[in-house]
Amino acid sequence: MTRATRAVINLAALQHNLEVARRAAPYSLVMAIIKANAYGHGLSQVARALSKADAFGVATLDEALQLRAAGIHQPITLLEGFTRAEQLAKLRLHQFDVVLHHEQQLEILEAHPGVPVGVWFKIDTGMHRLGFAPQRVNTIYQRLLACGAVKKPIAFFTHLANADVREDTRTTVQLQLFHQTIDALQLSPAPVTCAANSAGILGCKASHSAWVRPGIMLFGVSPFVDSRAAEHELQPVMTLHSELIAVNQHPKGAAIGYGGTYVCPETMPVGVIAIGYGDGYPRHAKSGTPVLVNGQPVPLIGRVSMDMISVDLRSLPQARIGDPVILWGEGLSVEEIAQHADTIGYQLLCGVTTRVPYEYQN
Ligand SMILES: *Cc1c(COP(=O)(O)O)cnc(C)c1O
Repeated sequence: MTRATRAVINLAALQHNLEVARRAAPYSLVMAIIKANAYGHGLSQVARALSKADAFGVATLDEALQLRAAGIHQPITLLEGFTRAEQLAKLRLHQFDVVLHHEQQLEILEAHPGVPVGVWFKIDTGMHRLGFAPQRVNTIYQRLLACGAVKKPIAFFTHLANADVREDTRTTVQLQLFHQTIDALQLSPAPVTCAANSAGILGCKASHSAWVRPGIMLFGVSPFVDSRAAEHELQPVMTLHSELIAVNQHPKGAAIGYGGTYVCPETMPVGVIAIGYGDGYPRHAKSGTPVLVNGQPVPLIGRVSMDMISVDLRSLPQARIGDPVILWGEGLSVEEIAQHADTIGYQLLCGVTTRVPYEYQN
């Protein structure tokens, strides 16, 4: 057998989480967001398992091409659109839709007549990252209408900046601005819109519209700062496994690992586990971060190394080399590990490195 360190991806849990999104937004179509290698879970495997998604959203043209190469036929939206005219041929060939968020993209389309490209017209309602300011929407909309390279009808898009904080009034303000701006165009029939991310889907019905865009919730992680996945009936998709590769007795006063930041308060068994920041385990995880050894939580001690971490085994004196370890996933939420490492579950999931083999379970 090779190194026991591996990420097991539970595809049934992924499909269950898609159903949770559907139940939460029953009148909306679902654009499953699977950028960044499906949040670190494997792009094509995840897309194939999400055959019931109505569409997919990715960040880059390369991700979209990878999906088509994997035989994915659903509509695919490029969430950042495009930046260069050379990209248009591939967009057209594979029928990718784009988020159109900048005047330069419109200029490129105007200068390159051809097969019309599907666009999500993005309004910046407060995130202040991508999108047109509301006061420019009318003018730009008229140009989009007049542009033969833009498929009609045009759909509208915005992104929420604070939906992860439930009841945040800034979300209401963004949604009001979104709908006021669109209403002012007086379109009939009313256009297709899309605003909700996972937090909007689970926490803000007012953000649901023709389409919703779940990302992190599909992977079984709560999008909220103040709740865990289980409260939303989400199931973890990735479980990161490893094993004990050493159990050593160290005397009182022994300092563990680089920098000796943890000093043994008494003679105690210390376990060494084959996982480190070279695998994507966060280097900033503090002493006290829980790790499951034989299903029991024990605290991380000392600094995380590239290939190893150490744990306090005083509560598990019977633990032995080869015993199974879970770093996050089933039985230990990635949100909890993220909190101990001053980051978010998103980053930990995306950050699993190519050294770690993936195993897919149906
Ligand atoms: C990443 C992303 C999403 C999904 O966000 P989650 O918080 O993971 O649900 C939705 N929309 C856009 C534009 C995104 O970039």
